[in-house]
Amino acid sequence: MPTQRQLFLKHLAQTSDFPLGLEIERAEGVYMYDVQGKRYADLISGIGVSNVGHRHPRVVAAIHEQVDKYMHLMVYGEYIQSPQVRLASLLAGLMPAALNNVYLTNSGTEAVEGALKLAKRHTGRTELITFKDTYHGSTHGALSVMGNEHFKNAFRPLLPDVQILNYNVTAELARISERTAAVIVESVQGEAGYQTPCTPWMQALRARCTEVGALLIVDEIQTGMGRTGKMFGFEHYGIQPDIVTLAKGLGGGLPIGAFVASATIMGAFKTDPILGHITTFGGNPVCAAAACAVIEVLLKEKLTEQVAAKNALMLQLLQHPAIVRVTGKGLMLAVDLGSFAFNKAVIDRCLEHGVITDWFLFNDRSLRLAPPLTITSEELRSALQVVLESIEAVYQAQKQSK
Ligand code: PMP
Repeated sequence: MPTQRQLFLKHLAQTSDFPLGLEIERAEGVYMYDVQGKRYADLISGIGVSNVGHRHPRVVAAIHEQVDKYMHLMVYGEYIQSPQVRLASLLAGLMPAALNNVYLTNSGTEAVEGALKLAKRHTGRTELITFKDTYHGSTHGALSVMGNEHFKNAFRPLLPDVQILNYNVTAELARISERTAAVIVESVQGEAGYQTPCTPWMQALRARCTEVGALLIVDEIQTGMGRTGKMFGFEHYGIQPDIVTLAKGLGGGLPIGAFVASATIMGAFKTDPILGHITTFGGNPVCAAAACAVIEVLLKEKLTEQVAAKNALMLQLLQHPAIVRVTGKGLMLAVDLGSFAFNKAVIDRCLEHGVITDWFLFNDRSLRLAPPLTITSEELRSALQVVLESIEAVYQAQKQSK
């Protein structure tokens, strides 16, 4: 009899030769349990997904309730499905007033695809502008606006007319012009290793887009749903996007995404051609019901409001001579450990001792810490103790080998 691991390696498409390969049996709150019963504290939330923890009871109940009524009925946008209507209304209520129209997708990359198409259609322009080391998804359109040549080059030709600017550099904003359909930006750059822009730059970016009539798309797929200490990251900078993309934490563990704009902009999908953006499963009613529950939990349990105190606790605890610096916002922190070798050794030791961390796609020397927002101070303290012990162990080992 082949083992699960053997079947996993044989039949599930692998995209690297070193998958983590944890075999988890169940997950609850901040913790996952493997088939041997070993407990792991999840300090990365399945990469920014489990903002309300794993299997939050209200999310699970909402899923059960919806499954008992109906699942898929019809392709997106035709029937009035109450979980979709509720979710769109809830999201519109959380956004600036102008952003009152919601298109539901299955994933983050599809939300980005929709947003890019919408911007081209609304402005009648083709140029798209993005930033170095940004990640917006893995499908062709989203890949075209990825800010990393290494991950893009093998898949060319991609969308033409894409420019990559340096993030947080004011002089570069002059390259946004009357030719530009949209600029897509993250309010904290996720895969770059939680790099934060300064407020004047974000405001200058907004102003430049307005000046030349380009739409500003803010990708809140990783930063959204309370993770930075505001419901959406752009709120930190006092700016209003034209289009916002969401996914990851929105579904509380089920796959759903969205792009949100004004009804006027979104109206571009209705004519020439009609049905300008189509999806079969986007906004699946079970996923939409789960997303409604996520928003209710975030609001009811005041999880976003607690992020600042948890961030402060993390920053207070994350002290060690091997830590070069800590960047990020709220419960998305990147701990720069100076080299990939050091970082990898820390990640491996953490895993051995029951704590899940990670590095970043475009920054392998930084440790990713993005726990569920539901994590308690005690849970945070005990998990970070393992992280700090691991940093110390690797630090001592490195000292001895010198
Ligand atoms: N945008 C950002 C900022 C992301 O972090 C991600 C996923 N890492 C995506 C888009 C793509 O989302 P998905 O994997 O759901 O397609």
